[in-house]
Amino acid sequence: MSNKIKYIAFFIILISSIGFIGCKSNEGIIDSTDKVKPISEKGPIFSYSEISTDIKSKMLGSSMPENEPISFDNLSYLKLTYYGFDEKSHVGEMIVNKDVAAEVVEIFKELYDAKYPIEKIKLIDEYNASDELSMKDNNSSSFCYRTIAGTDVVSNHGKGVAIDINPLFNPHVNTSTNKVSPDTAYDYANRNTVLKGMIVKGDACYNAFIKRGWSWGGNWKNPDYQHFEKINN
Ligand SMILES: [Zn+2]
Repeated sequence: MSNKIKYIAFFIILISSIGFIGCKSNEGIIDSTDKVKPISEKGPIFSYSEISTDIKSKMLGSSMPENEPISFDNLSYLKLTYYGFDEKSHVGEMIVNKDVAAEVVEIFKELYDAKYPIEKIKLIDEYNASDELSMKDNNSSSFCYRTIAGTDVVSNHGKGVAIDINPLFNPHVNTSTNKVSPDTAYDYANRNTVLKGMIVKGDACYNAFIKRGWSWGGNWKNPDYQHFEKINN
């Protein structure tokens, strides 16, 4: 074997061993990340309870007006594990009407088991109770006290019996004016291409709500693809 060939052979061995070490260390990183799984070690959380003093003070003057037009006693605080867009488990918080609390927990457990992607579930108070900001951030939420525009009628979100899921990707579309809400969601008003987190008839999200008697805003004349509600509780 000439010296030149020996050098080439040496470099081939050197390069492949570096590659091998690289792979090994990558696997090591994946292994160690797998070990850091606080949620799966404890198990996913699906709970509902009375609203704590801390959460009440966060809500007052925000999602709950100061005069408390609906009693905190009629609402429940939920902790829900969800399957994120990053394919990891996260725990979110939601306020819903007490009458639907157990059912909503069941729905979110079903969505988690089906690995249905949800981007985030935070209290709307994190957005100063601005539905627009919460929607733009693709935040799924339920309770926020409000009356239907121009009336004294409390909206279903104001009663905590309506839930919006991935609202940026599932906007409200006014078919007469072509206005899309949130106004950053025009790309998602077209429902022909189904992207991750978009709700379509017959998918796991649609089924989890519909089979429990909820109705879907996606069926309305002016579709509200993010919206599920349970009325006549
Ligand atoms: Zn809604």
